[in-house]
Order: sequence, then C-alpha cells, then structure tokens
Amino acid sequence: MPTAVSPVFDSTKVTVIYVLGGPGAGKGTQCSKLVEAYSLCHLSVGDLLREEQNRDGTPYGELIRTCFREGTIVPMEVTLKLLQNAMSAEMKIRSGNGWTDGRGRFLIDGFPRTMDRALKFDEEVCLPSMVIFFTTTEEVMLQRLLERAKISGREDDNMESIMKRFHTHGNQTMPVIQHYRSCGEVTEIDSTASVEEVYREASAAVSKLLHTPVA
Ligand code: UDP
Ligand code: MG
Repeated sequence: MPTAVSPVFDSTKVTVIYVLGGPGAGKGTQCSKLVEAYSLCHLSVGDLLREEQNRDGTPYGELIRTCFREGTIVPMEVTLKLLQNAMSAEMKIRSGNGWTDGRGRFLIDGFPRTMDRALKFDEEVCLPSMVIFFTTTEEVMLQRLLERAKISGREDDNMESIMKRFHTHGNQTMPVIQHYRSCGEVTEIDSTASVEEVYREASAAVSKLLHTPVA
C-alpha cells in the first residue's frame, strides 16, 4: 500500500498566509508593514528567485532570467524547493525566540501563481490558513510599476514584461484565487487606496486570523 506523503510543516502549528495580487498591487509594501507588526516572516518568492539567479553555481540563472523577462512562471520544482528551504532556515533561526514548539508564521508573497503549485504546496509543504488578495485596476498597477521602475532596477519592470505579467496573472493566477474563494479562505482588499488605508484592512484580517490585537 502506498503511504500518503504528509506535508513537511504541520498547519496547526505553522501559519501560512498567501499574499496574492497582480504585479504592482502592493503585496511587497503591505507585507513589509505586516512583518514588523506581527512577528511574521516575509518570503517573497520573486525575491527568492532573484537571489537564486545571482547565486554562484546555480544551474537556474538563465531559466529564471528568461521567465522574468517573459513574465512566465518558473518550474515548480525550483520555487517549492526555495520556499521550503527558506521556511526551514527561518524555523531554525527563530526557535526559542518567540516561535516555540515548532510554531511559525509566514507571509508568502507572490505564490502560488498556478493551481498545480497550490496543490503541490498543500501536499508537500504546508496547508495555508488564509489568502490575502490585493486588487486594483491595471491602470493603477501599471502606473505604480512604471514609477517603481525608476528605482527598482528590476529587469521585468518595463512595459513589455509588465503586459506579459498582467496576462499571466489573469490567466494562471486568477484561477488560484477563485479556488480559494470557493473554499472561503480569501480576504479581498481593494488596494487602490493609500498605503495606510490598505494596511488598516490587511492588519485587521491578520489580527483576526492570529487572534491578536490589531497592530
Ligand atoms: N515568479 C515565479 N513563480 C513564483 C513567483 C514569481 O515564477 O511563484 C517569477 C515570475 O516570472 C514573476 C517574477 O518572478 O513575473 C517576479 O515576481 P514578483 O513576485 O517579484 O513580482 P510582483 O508580482 O511582486 O511584481
Ligand atoms: Mg513583489
């Protein structure tokens, strides 16, 4: 009889919050604020991939560069491994420092971008506790990305890559959000408003999930 594989992390102890939204919707900005207030670990999968791309000896540099430029999604073996390694490393660093008894709290930003990645993460890494979905119009997102391009140095913050990223988000990531919506796990937040206003809603959702006062 084949034995069922259980996830590496126990979701009754390790809280995983997915943070989704189109490119430029405000995921990174809001995650930085939430991390400070709630002793969470912020893992941006885009940033993990950028680090991997620059790591000496990585076999994935060219692959990641191409996916970024084309706005396509990196194979899940790569992202899942990077995420799991980053989570394990953080669990070690923080044990005895607030995250006792195998407990951990993660904000996973920009993942899962496809349904198969969502299912694989459920099965092999950890079940998520909540999905925060930041939503605004493509006009607003485009404006923010073009503004960010002036200082970000990101090779995918150019008009052509941005259009491709919007397309990938609409076609491949929106079904993930629909899926979690049907499970009642999505907190949808209109991120058109100011950073402070959006944060008020985001922090209310996190406080409710963690049963802690709003910070
Ligand atoms: N990416 C990916 N898988 C992920 C997350 C990101 O392949 O799970 C790649 C994808 O090519 C994407 C790029 O990383 O366009 C940048 O992602 P990031 O989350 O940094 O962009 P954002 O959505 O925050 O603008
Ligand atoms: Mg980001």
